[in-house]
Amino acid sequence: MELNKTWNDTLNILKISISHANFSTWLSHTHIVAVKKLDESRQTVEIGCPSSFIADTVEKRYFGQTQDALNQVTGLKNDLIFVVAQIPQESEQKEFESPLFNTNPTSFSSSIGINELLKKSRIRAGFTFENFAVSTSNQMAWAAAEAVAKNPGKSYNPLFFWGGVGVGKTHLMLAVGFKILSQNPNAKVLYCMGEEFTTEIVEAIRNKSTQSFKKRYRNLDLLMLDDVQFIAGKNTVQEEFFHTFNTLLREGGQVILTSDRPPSEIQKLEERLKSRFEAGLIIDISPPDFELRVAIAQIKAQERGVELPIQIASVIATHIDSLRRIEGFLTRLFSETGSDLNKITIEKVNKLLGQSASVLDSTAIRTNQRALLPQDIVDVVADYFALGRRKLLGESRARPVSLPRQILMYLLRVDLGLPLQEVGHIVGDRDHTTVMHAVKKISKNLSTDESLRNDVLGIKKTVFG
Ligand code: ADP
Ligand code: MG
Repeated sequence: MELNKTWNDTLNILKISISHANFSTWLSHTHIVAVKKLDESRQTVEIGCPSSFIADTVEKRYFGQTQDALNQVTGLKNDLIFVVAQIPQESEQKEFESPLFNTNPTSFSSSIGINELLKKSRIRAGFTFENFAVSTSNQMAWAAAEAVAKNPGKSYNPLFFWGGVGVGKTHLMLAVGFKILSQNPNAKVLYCMGEEFTTEIVEAIRNKSTQSFKKRYRNLDLLMLDDVQFIAGKNTVQEEFFHTFNTLLREGGQVILTSDRPPSEIQKLEERLKSRFEAGLIIDISPPDFELRVAIAQIKAQERGVELPIQIASVIATHIDSLRRIEGFLTRLFSETGSDLNKITIEKVNKLLGQSASVLDSTAIRTNQRALLPQDIVDVVADYFALGRRKLLGESRARPVSLPRQILMYLLRVDLGLPLQEVGHIVGDRDHTTVMHAVKKISKNLSTDESLRNDVLGIKKTVFG
């Protein structure tokens, strides 16, 4: 009973800093199995997870945060061990059996007005922070989007997301719009695709109605322009956008942009627009890693009313690398099985996967799994901070060396997924608790420290391309 309460309190703390979708996927079915007191101030806690996959993932991604929360609740120093164990009486944990996808993310969404507001803002419903899963490939983008939603016009302006098809740029952008509207129903918010924007300007000019166009766009609190690359090469459109952009920013409005490439690589984009975009925050979203695909397969199934078992989601995520194709596959799976969980078996999934060779994109899977050696990362970090390897891995505790070293530990642990001990060994035979501390610190500071984020982004770009 006591343990249940301790764990519930711990989970409540974790809930604050972990996105809803991630929390539901990885932490909601965990519990404390056993506690062993070591002395007055220290104890070892065994945490049960429903599968070894979940245990591994929680250990890899949430070790530091979980430990912090547990330390806070117990007032002790806790060492954590993750084991596979089902919750004995699930009913006692009811509170955490919330569905992966929160069908009613804010009380606001149930009120009649929201649909009208969304429509007016041209926001498609169903894309929120609550159903957006976060992993290393989109963590920075997510943190920036959250920051902008909390403080529109004040944190990063413009905010620019770029990345390949289906990595979640539009989803994240719409989530900001949704959140701002739900916080303030009077906010003037508008979502627009690059192509639409172009058509509207052309028509406004033709119909001599540029005044109303200006009125619509220039007094917004939030303008979301999706796939901005479409306006490149169209002079009148760029000209109008330039003025819209300037007026909006001057009046304290927020602008969010997306594109399939960074501003510097958009051909025929006017220089003055490029430099305006570059004055804000530019973040790339990489293709989803395996864990993210698992989480998203579950979220998308949940949206169609099916609680997809994690084993099945894992099989799908192993074979399909693109999020849009995962959705397509689920449509096909459910149309054949009629959303009947008894019929959704591993065999059925494998059979369907085998039939639809088109869903397999082996090139992308290969690039995702491109073998990267830890030593490559050591070299890139050393180069990036203009430190020698020896210095980076040496004894010095001065900040100009210790911060790069902590970033190195973070990348080895989080991006390469190496065990704590191994990371410690690589960075000059350091203790695993030193690694844990570094990972925790960097993860925590990434969402608030812009220069740290730029450093990590710069290094990742060199390492992962
Ligand atoms: P993009 O605009 O980058 O091409 P979208 O935002 O349209 O991609 O995403 C494609 C699909 O994948 C959408 O259904 C979206 O909800 C889903 N998706 C992408 N990333 C995530 C995520 N992190 N969590 C949940 N769903 C996601
Ligand atoms: Mg898009």
